[in-house]
Amino acid sequence: MTTQITAAVLAQSGDNPRPYADTPPLVLKTLTLDDPKPGELLVRIDAAGICHSDLSVVNGDRPRPMPMALGHEAAATIVALGDPDDAQFAVGDQVVLVFLPSCGECVACASGEGYLCPNAAAANGAGELMRGGHRLSDCGAAVHHHLGVSAFATHAVVDRRSAVKVDRDIPAETAALFGCAVLTGVGAVMNTAQVRPGESVLVYGLGGVGLAALLGALAAGAQPVTAVDPSPEKRALALELGAAQALSPDDAASLPKADVVIETVGKAVVLAQAYAAARRGGRVVTVGLPNASEMLSIPALSLVADGKTLMGSYMGSSIPSRDIPRYVALWRAGRLPVERLLTSISPLSEINGLLDRLASGAAIRQVVKP
Ligand SMILES: [Zn+2]
Ligand SMILES: [Zn+2]
Repeated sequence: MTTQITAAVLAQSGDNPRPYADTPPLVLKTLTLDDPKPGELLVRIDAAGICHSDLSVVNGDRPRPMPMALGHEAAATIVALGDPDDAQFAVGDQVVLVFLPSCGECVACASGEGYLCPNAAAANGAGELMRGGHRLSDCGAAVHHHLGVSAFATHAVVDRRSAVKVDRDIPAETAALFGCAVLTGVGAVMNTAQVRPGESVLVYGLGGVGLAALLGALAAGAQPVTAVDPSPEKRALALELGAAQALSPDDAASLPKADVVIETVGKAVVLAQAYAAARRGGRVVTVGLPNASEMLSIPALSLVADGKTLMGSYMGSSIPSRDIPRYVALWRAGRLPVERLLTSISPLSEINGLLDRLASGAAIRQVVKP
């Protein structure tokens, strides 16, 4: 048995001229989706967010095997179980899909660092599911999975370790954001930096991850929380959300040095600015994904003489099954209003124009409903 689905497929990474709306790199195709194997789930995608990591595959910053069905931040409903007697999941459950499963058996997973699971990283790099191979095909030819999710589609088969169950009453377009933007941004603050109440936090970049980091810093009791971004519209939103100040990068040099600096832009030159903006003894956490060719230049002496700490944070150093319920609880209490990051809700057919809006900096989190 198989399911015929509609999915947005990228044939070629890199040489895609903009605007994408005119020469669409993503093409809606009818694909064949195999049934879930034991340990997998067949889900209907209810809402999928468009993230910079999708754009990075389209523009070649993050090369992936082609063709690939894109999309990795989503909320979905379980349609069928690979294990009919699955004790954790049931048909009809709402799940948040996360972009890195963890095998649960390697040293990293055993150490509570599933975000460093090499088996998951290998599967994601190969465009396959954790149990190996593809469940997607186009007239018999394999189509690769994006980060184990491939959410710009009506349906997906995912490893059960890529899914976290959440209550059904959370709107899908809000729930979707917890899978990437919130997990990454809030996790960078709470897990990686371990921000304590009263510490000052400076956030570079106000995309979905940066604004989530800002919300996370406020929820953690940071004081003051300051934001840096070239876009006046994004700075205005940061102020509405509770930032004490929001400055352009040119004006940021005048700021007092911060206890914790979170860099979400994904450019080495911005990371160097973020490093300089931390106080002596401060922590700098980077979550942005630069092009693999970029090298970081910082004063080497300062690491020791200024006692600074520079930390990389993949997926917010998160354990999704632990952290997503915690962040949902904060959302319910009104302390993590992540729905404020939503720019728009659109049909899947508009995906290429939405990528243009993300690339131009005009949007924060655009969601498609397939
Ligand atoms: Zn993402
Ligand atoms: Zn593992």
